[in-house]
Amino acid sequence: MFKHDIIIQKYGGTSVGSPERIKAVAQRVAQSAKLYKHVVVVVSAMGDTTDDLIGLAKTMSSSPSSREYDQLISTGENISASLLAIGLQEIGVPAISLTGPQAGVKTENIYSRAKILRVDTGRIKCELSEGQVVVVAGFQGATENGDVATIGRGGSDTSAVVLAAALGAEECEIYTDVDGVYTTDPRLISDATKLTEISYDEMLELASLGAKVLHPRSVECAKENQIILHVRSSFSQEEGTRVKEDSQMEIQRAVTGITLNQEEAKIAILKVPDQPGIAGKLFTRLADVNINVDMIIQSVEQDHINNITFTVNADDLAQAAAITQAVADELGAKGVVTDDNIAKLSIVGVGMISKAGIAAQMFEVLGAKGINIQLISTSEIKISCVIEKQFAKEALVLLHSAFELDQKIGSPS
Ligand code: ASP
Ligand code: MG
Repeated sequence: MFKHDIIIQKYGGTSVGSPERIKAVAQRVAQSAKLYKHVVVVVSAMGDTTDDLIGLAKTMSSSPSSREYDQLISTGENISASLLAIGLQEIGVPAISLTGPQAGVKTENIYSRAKILRVDTGRIKCELSEGQVVVVAGFQGATENGDVATIGRGGSDTSAVVLAAALGAEECEIYTDVDGVYTTDPRLISDATKLTEISYDEMLELASLGAKVLHPRSVECAKENQIILHVRSSFSQEEGTRVKEDSQMEIQRAVTGITLNQEEAKIAILKVPDQPGIAGKLFTRLADVNINVDMIIQSVEQDHINNITFTVNADDLAQAAAITQAVADELGAKGVVTDDNIAKLSIVGVGMISKAGIAAQMFEVLGAKGINIQLISTSEIKISCVIEKQFAKEALVLLHSAFELDQKIGSPS
């Protein structure tokens, strides 16, 4: 199979949100079937179906068993896959829908957040060679013993990229309800501008920081396999944003994008002894229950006493706080405090590697408006600050214009 012979398209929940939308997607897929020899389509569940299914599970039990939970919530994708296949057949395009397990998607033996291990592409290739458009239910695969496992919320993007890699495609189109990747969430700032291209590394930072446009693992997987992601709208024919290796264009400015995450919470363990192994113990316990820790700050008080502050997803706050409290009790720490009234602002750009003073500029913009910075963390291409939630929007607007993201690249500044 030649790379340009095959295209993988992924349609998100809004794009397949109603029968009318699915018919529109079928028309689009039909067009692509004329342009490419082989078309594989990956779909998400219709609209809020996954949330509704989770709600249903919760009506039966506050802690449903993970196997049944996955068995249930994976069904949303099956519905949209078969509806799209029916819609395609109806307009004369030969099509077949496959669940993740039928498509040969193999996952780890865990539920809810399973990683995809590989795709046995035999069945898909067979259907493609018979001239079918293959519609695959995203977000799911089969464990070793054939049970359905889901791969984490928003995981259909990753399903699509994994399939693109396994089938040797060059590009994977991600159809969504926005027409590309913006300098920041255009729903928050109206003069956010659309990027033509963005590098994998920048996109990975933005996605990990909560830019909802792509699932972080999908970007990682695209980078590993050098698959170009084309993020575009299923509601228009316009070109979107291409996520690919180093994009020269964006290096023109130090900052490519800004994200605002208001879904994190802060936990501090106060006055623990400053000795080896403490952080290891705490964060191992959190990791053991799959809680992701984001920023970690350790500050030293006098007399070998530390305070350790870190952030977790707000949904994990209660569980993380309980674990931290247990560790605090064991260590004889003074106590644990939590705060979910926070927002994390992050600026991202490969351009900051070669340009000095970007962090200072960020801090000054905030400081000048009297906005206090509670936590800071950095990577080579990212600077994040945690501030009080009430200043979130104001700070985002200030930074977006301070780093000239409201101006199109190439236009005079
Ligand atoms: N339907 C799943 C979810 O809502 C997967 C996806 O949309 O990518 O999380
Ligand atoms: Mg979804």
